[in-house]
Amino acid sequence: MQGIDPEAKEEEPTHQLSVHSATCKPEPPTRSGRRSICSNCSRPLPVCLCHALPAQPIQTTTRVVILHHPHEAQHKLSTTPILAKTLINATTIIGRRLRPGISPVLDQSPNAIYLFPPTHTSPALNVSHLQASDLIRDKGKDLVLVAFDGTWKHAKEMVKASEDFLSRFATRVCLEIDENASGGSIYDSDLILRK
Ligand SMILES: [Zn+2]
Repeated sequence: MQGIDPEAKEEEPTHQLSVHSATCKPEPPTRSGRRSICSNCSRPLPVCLCHALPAQPIQTTTRVVILHHPHEAQHKLSTTPILAKTLINATTIIGRRLRPGISPVLDQSPNAIYLFPPTHTSPALNVSHLQASDLIRDKGKDLVLVAFDGTWKHAKEMVKASEDFLSRFATRVCLEIDENASGGSIYDSDLILRK
């Protein structure tokens, strides 16, 4: 089905980047005009990570599709571009929602998983059970991993908006949670990954 999404027009423009198409073009000066940007990893020179990137992008059997929130894409320290440069089979889509027509990989209704915590209405397969599941046992070679990159608030919005489409072919997978661990939920953790 190739329905045109009525909300599509309201969304910000969607761009697709991949390790194959990404080009190293010079970055325009920042507003201050002072901070120099690495033309390869697109990070400010003092935090350039080129020395840590593999000489050749890494080949993986699992294909990775990342929905990269437009706000996140404006951050110079975003880690998604680094991942896309590191993995040969990683594709970044800048947008707020996965839908038909946005990704040639997902349009094939692949054997896919997406990583996000469960809710009452959307249960998730614990990642520790993934190896034993049909997803890996029978079709592992074709597996596609979908990830959402944004703040927790944005990621929740992106998952909610994408599930109509994703649920046709993808399984929600969550990380194992230690019930005995104390502290707040993962939603209010400021987990130091960023921000
Ligand atoms: Zn660099």
